Amino acid sequence: MNLEAHLAPHAAHSAQSQGRRFPEITPPSRTEFQRDRDRIIHSTAFRRLEYKTQVFVNHEGDLFRTRLTHSIEVAQIARSIARNLRLNEDLVEAISLAHDLGHTPFGHAGQDALNACMKDYGGFEHNLQSLRVVDELEEHYGAFDGLNLTFETREGILKHCSPQNAQRLGELGRRFLEKKQPSLEAQLANLADEIAYNNHDVDDGLRSGLITIGQLDDIDLFARHRRDVETSFPGIAGRRMIHETIRRMINALVVDLIDTSRERIAASGVTSLDDVRNAPPLIAFSDGMRAEATLLKQFLSRNLYRHYQVNRMTSKARRIVRELFDAFMAQPGLLPPDYQVQRDDTLRQARKVADYIAGMTDRYAIREHRRVFVIDEL
Ligand code: MG
Repeated sequence: MNLEAHLAPHAAHSAQSQGRRFPEITPPSRTEFQRDRDRIIHSTAFRRLEYKTQVFVNHEGDLFRTRLTHSIEVAQIARSIARNLRLNEDLVEAISLAHDLGHTPFGHAGQDALNACMKDYGGFEHNLQSLRVVDELEEHYGAFDGLNLTFETREGILKHCSPQNAQRLGELGRRFLEKKQPSLEAQLANLADEIAYNNHDVDDGLRSGLITIGQLDDIDLFARHRRDVETSFPGIAGRRMIHETIRRMINALVVDLIDTSRERIAASGVTSLDDVRNAPPLIAFSDGMRAEATLLKQFLSRNLYRHYQVNRMTSKARRIVRELFDAFMAQPGLLPPDYQVQRDDTLRQARKVADYIAGMTDRYAIREHRRVFVIDEL
């Protein structure tokens, strides 16, 4: 039975997948991409997302987004859009749920700190680390390391990549060198990520009190929908007003993305995934919506991500990552045995330390820092 008969010809079809690194027999009751999605959900790295920071550190409040709830929101948005465009929902879901698996503790602060630590050892990039998690680090299967996902899911996880790394990655890196596009599902997961974080960061930012509605009224996308909400529900206030405004913003972005992408796909004349790879990016917002979304993004980066209270946490997070890295590199004997490299190989040791630190949840990193540095902490 063809479970994907309803898909558009330019969607990614399981039957035409470029396959897995270790060949496996096609499952009888699921498509290849459903299987990828299922493997991601059952992975250890996926469960860790629950305790990793999106913007707010996990212990700062119970209602803020974590990497796990963020990833679920991305998958939800991406699937709705995929269904409208007759793209492969299973593939966008797999990519969305896996896209942040390689993130360090403490969000971007952790990633920047680890990248600085790894400067002389090949650097650290969360995208590449997500790929490393699904290709190598997960230990779930007898026959291979990693999750042995399909090419298309791995391609979607690798959102961007430097030319040097692209060379090293062979087939998967080729599109970065040849300036080609990934599947529409990969393009879509990328923009669904942006829709999710822009909107939930407004919500979390307001909830935390670090940004205010007064400030947001300068941002058209927000102000316009807030006015509509107040017209529909005179006197509405508080959380209800915020939620109603944000759901309308998400809807406006989603509808714009569907309409614009549908037009672009039709105008391009693509009839296969191969055509998609050779076409310009086809999943996109209209110019007007792109401009509005960018203004919101800039607002958040100025007023929330660089708020002094966020900066304080960022600075502590950086210190924790840097001090753990330095301690482990100076004395690899402090590391759990699995992360100690036997031969004298600084490059491999550094990568192992990066794997160890990147795998930590926020609270594990805080605890581990105490265990390494505080004399009466065991
Ligand atoms: Mg994300």
